[in-house]
Amino acid sequence: MKKVVVATNNMGKLKEIKDILTGYQLLSLKDINCKVEVEEDKETFEGNSLKKAQEISEILHMPCIADDSGLCIDIYNGWPGVHTARFLGENATAKERNTYILEKMKGLPTDQRKASVISCITYYENGIYIVGKGEIRGRIAEKPRGDNGFGFDEIFELEDGRTYAELSKEEKNKISHRRLALQDLMTKLENHV
Ligand code: IMP
Repeated sequence: MKKVVVATNNMGKLKEIKDILTGYQLLSLKDINCKVEVEEDKETFEGNSLKKAQEISEILHMPCIADDSGLCIDIYNGWPGVHTARFLGENATAKERNTYILEKMKGLPTDQRKASVISCITYYENGIYIVGKGEIRGRIAEKPRGDNGFGFDEIFELEDGRTYAELSKEEKNKISHRRLALQDLMTKLENHV
């Protein structure tokens, strides 16, 4: 089986990726004792995921998969987008970022709360790259709800009215933006060989 490094130390993400990309031996950065950190300084999810996958692949001389994801709010032209993790600085918590967004959007009616969560996952090997993309439409809730999630899960409401954090982990993994991106990547990888 082909060995591919996944540019993450997040075991939850690695498991999600392993569940879908079954034809590869997937290794985390920890598995191969790699401490490289790539700065995510591009203006698109695709740019950041490609940058990470390419830099790590070229350092390790092996194929690499990297992802980048975030929350994009319609009335702010996609903000926070690629800045989702850091728009309040490096040290702020997810809770603080969620509170900031809810305060900024306080009083806005439902039709002005529309948002997407987007994931790009890039496979890079020897100068060739393939990008999988996934997007889920929804809206920003009026208050945080649910205990199951991380990041923006408690404020991102799906079309059915539940927030990501109100789904079980298994339910979320079946329908998430990352799942869609992985499925898209898998289809493209299968068609590539
Ligand atoms: P990353 O690019 O996946 O590492 O994530 C960028 C930002 O989006 C971080 O602040 C994450 O916490 C957040 N994020 C990514 N995926 C999810 C998700 O599935 N739910 C909630 N937050 C997420």
